[in-house]
Amino acid sequence: MGIDIGGTNVVLAAADAKRHVVAERVIPTRAVDGPDGVLDRIAREVERLLTELPGRSRLAGIGVGVPGLVSSTQGLSRISPNLGWRDVNVAEYFHRRFGVPTWIDNDVRVATLGEHVFGAGRGLRNFICVTLGTGVGAGIVLDGQLYVGVTESAGEIGHLTVEKEGLPCGCGNRGCLEQYASGRAIARRAQERLREGVRSSLWTLVDGAVDRVTAKHVAAAFAQGDDLAREVLTEAAEYLAIGLAGAIHLFNPERIIVGGGVSLAGEPFLELVRQAVGRRVWEVPLSAVSIVRAELGDRSGVMGAAALALRRLSGAV
Ligand SMILES: [Zn+2]
Repeated sequence: MGIDIGGTNVVLAAADAKRHVVAERVIPTRAVDGPDGVLDRIAREVERLLTELPGRSRLAGIGVGVPGLVSSTQGLSRISPNLGWRDVNVAEYFHRRFGVPTWIDNDVRVATLGEHVFGAGRGLRNFICVTLGTGVGAGIVLDGQLYVGVTESAGEIGHLTVEKEGLPCGCGNRGCLEQYASGRAIARRAQERLREGVRSSLWTLVDGAVDRVTAKHVAAAFAQGDDLAREVLTEAAEYLAIGLAGAIHLFNPERIIVGGGVSLAGEPFLELVRQAVGRRVWEVPLSAVSIVRAELGDRSGVMGAAALALRRLSGAV
């Protein structure tokens, strides 16, 4: 069973030993219910899902992706600002409830594993998977292994400083990439420009209610050729490229996979990112790296969570 716990939704997928997904489900997270409420609702959904599987099916293990800082060895969600969790023992909860081994990892790393096993990272040994959602994070695969760092804090690309005296960030720093290239940042920038009275098809997309503009609206307006949407996404792409250029110079990867809600802006947005990266990266590492969209879309997390369990069950680390 793969479980991807997000700030808004929880996605569940049951996969068989041949790595085929046999059932999938999405339920609301409702983080306001607290860790016990959320975990209990997920567990009940797992039970329901199991009753729908063929008769001889048996639950063998569970993989879980949790946003924020985790300890995968302790099975612990250490700090999850999105969920409001601190030191929640997710692995123990599911182990006690279902009597099967449970492994957890951070949501972005789990999505990276999903792309590695099932998606755009198949067969690659050195790549970076960047998630552009509410926040910005990255999973780093080096020599075929996920690199987690000493305290499992590696990959926080969203908190690279891209402006010395820039916008304040929730992490306490200023000028973090996340403040310029996340879905939230894109929405905020578009709203600011609209309040200045800039003409845009975004006005009609939200019936004049500027507060309701999201990154999704900006992506939709961009697809229709809207100038303001193009301006806002070009700016986001420029900042993202600063972060990616740093990552390329540090790790010399063969691919950068871009996932998360913002990547829904699609190929034209990625082209802006490629151009901006091209202006900042040395020719040799640049010629070796491709920048592509996540193949699994918003399913990379749940597929990765299933892969996490399948991998451990088969004895691979
Ligand atoms: Zn930050």
